[in-house]
Amino acid sequence: MAKLFACHAVAWRRRVIRHSSFFLLLAPLVLHAADNISVLGGNPRWGVLENYQETITHDDFADLINHVYCTHGFAPDLIEINEKTARVLMNRETQKFFTLQFVEKDDGRKPVPRLWRPAKSLPPLRRDKPLFGLKIGLDPGHLGGKWSKMEERWFEVGNSPPVQEGDLTLRVARLLAPRLRELGAKVSFVRNSNEPVTAKRPDDFQELARKILIKNGVPQPRVDVFDPNDPEKEQTIRWQTEILFYRYSEIRRRAALVNFKLHPDLVLCLHFNAEGWGDPNNPNLTEANHLHLLVNGSYLAEELEFDDQRFEMIRRLLSRAYDEELPLADTIALAMARETGLPPYEYPTTNATTKVGMSGYVYARNLLATRLYRCPVVYCEPYVMNSKDVFARIQAGDYDGTRNVNGVQRKSIFREYADSVVDGLVDYYSKARQ
Ligand SMILES: [Zn+2]
Repeated sequence: MAKLFACHAVAWRRRVIRHSSFFLLLAPLVLHAADNISVLGGNPRWGVLENYQETITHDDFADLINHVYCTHGFAPDLIEINEKTARVLMNRETQKFFTLQFVEKDDGRKPVPRLWRPAKSLPPLRRDKPLFGLKIGLDPGHLGGKWSKMEERWFEVGNSPPVQEGDLTLRVARLLAPRLRELGAKVSFVRNSNEPVTAKRPDDFQELARKILIKNGVPQPRVDVFDPNDPEKEQTIRWQTEILFYRYSEIRRRAALVNFKLHPDLVLCLHFNAEGWGDPNNPNLTEANHLHLLVNGSYLAEELEFDDQRFEMIRRLLSRAYDEELPLADTIALAMARETGLPPYEYPTTNATTKVGMSGYVYARNLLATRLYRCPVVYCEPYVMNSKDVFARIQAGDYDGTRNVNGVQRKSIFREYADSVVDGLVDYYSKARQ
């Protein structure tokens, strides 16, 4: 489940989304006079973009800006697309711009510098091992274990074992890894335990949390949350330090691992979705159940105001990750839809997402992981954990073959998830590698 801006906007979290967006997203934390950097973000290295000169045509650039990355518009001084160049604002205060030279014709394109390999650059297809040589990073969403309650990825029905999203996603990743290796892939885990990748802990962010709250109009922030249902808990230092730890610091550390150590050709972010469950000790169970996948894009106008996010977007655009991740996401979505029978999720608003591709299941959205991991990223959001059906299947656990669950013979939900992702990858790479 992808709560807030790092995850999807499910209805049950609307209140949280609004508050958190206000507190962490819309208000840049100004650390130095001219900086306009998002929370825990790094200074953009605009010089890196020089390596992408003459790698893209005007039409391809304009198409990606208009239909993938900036579908919600942006302030006119941020990006200016001319006939032969694009001009991107680096910093408003200093009025510095980066100028990108387009290549006139597609066949004159200079090679795109990147560490990941698109399917067509991999060694030729081997029928017995369609994923041969492919480097896949598995990123099981969230932390699970003792962190689940803090992450608000925990609910419990009566005396049944609690549902903890971070544990479910890790289980799927551990089923996936050997299957992918059998097919020839080199698999690495971005997380392979219930412990964080980041070495930081909530207490390390006390000062930053206080600054963020003061900056956002809470002059004397309360230290603690007294009641988990308190509507103002997000205005406490405790809540802010926790989200800085498990969301911002954690995902940025995972990104460093992906970008500087693992160097995969593809990252699969594995999640389970949810609908509003209300009180986690007495959650609502629903009939709703659905599937969608996310790729990076659909930046909000206010996100584009951050120098680092604008830079990361342009770098991602120029890396042409979208050319690979969109058809990949579409193909995996169709395999998952076929095997789970789930309908596409429809976001209640189009404020933060844009539907892309042909399958009807894929959205563009600017999530931290999809933005920061410098390779194609496919972010999977199948199954509503608090639907009656999925809850029963989670309680049934993992097993071989099929069993009767809620009156239907089903595979274990974990194997169905893993199998459908494997099938989608095989479908894609078998075609794309030829
Ligand atoms: Zn999630």
